[in-house]
Amino acid sequence: MSAYKVSARKYRPQKFSDVSSQEFVTQTLKNAIISKKIAHSYLLSGPRGVGKTTIARIFAKALNCPNMKDGEPCNKCDSCLEITNGNHPDVFELDAASNRGIDDVRAIQDAAKFFPIKGKYKFFIVDEVHMLTQQAFNALLKILEEPPEYLIFILATTNPEKIPATIVSRCQRFPLVRIKIKEISENIKEIAKEEKIKIDDESLFLIAKLGDGALRDAQGIFDMAVSFCGDKIKYEELKNFLNIPDKEIYFNISKYISEGNAKEMLTYFSKLNEQGFDLQTFYSGIMST
Ligand SMILES: [Zn+2]
Repeated sequence: MSAYKVSARKYRPQKFSDVSSQEFVTQTLKNAIISKKIAHSYLLSGPRGVGKTTIARIFAKALNCPNMKDGEPCNKCDSCLEITNGNHPDVFELDAASNRGIDDVRAIQDAAKFFPIKGKYKFFIVDEVHMLTQQAFNALLKILEEPPEYLIFILATTNPEKIPATIVSRCQRFPLVRIKIKEISENIKEIAKEEKIKIDDESLFLIAKLGDGALRDAQGIFDMAVSFCGDKIKYEELKNFLNIPDKEIYFNISKYISEGNAKEMLTYFSKLNEQGFDLQTFYSGIMST
């Protein structure tokens, strides 16, 4: 029996061509791999859940893969599999949100001194790099100023403006975009098909929309929907489960607004509030009505 895996992990793209919405970034990185024009540091920025660390891992995989083809990793060799499983001896991942101090960067400095054990390159993937302390940034800058031939940094962040300019100027910058609703809904549709879950179009759209540009979030909502609705996801059930106000409610509110009927509207709001509607979802819903 295989252990349950959340969709975001189970269906994490393993090739550039499987990554949604980030064609500019994936194509540029593939070209760099094919033409062997590799920089020592890359900065991937963008909102949460859009594929920053996924792209970083695919890049590391392709560069260390002996069977690399057209800039894509083979995903079958030992090196590729070890990176997928997170145990490749030359690929290090650091979450700067919880490892933000000078000692953590010193550990990178020490590890960076040695040649890669297996592959041609040694990678440090630093997530949420903007969280590092000033001292840690200074230590990182020292490595970036004179990186050994085999060393590659892939820095990822949701807040690029918080990274010192001295660091940014040494990186190739790749801004990632929010994922379009249509692409999120296609991705969820594929997963549903794989998992043999029946899901109607309205539910797909709702889940994609709630993901708010983050594929990972939409996949999480899908997992919850499956655990609640079982192998048939119906809009009516899903809407109740997620406590999403009905279209009719938006219509009524819009009507009260256009009539300038503040009294009715307030009564209506307090009624909705009593029913426990999630206000955040409600506001984003009414903004798009
Ligand atoms: Zn491979």
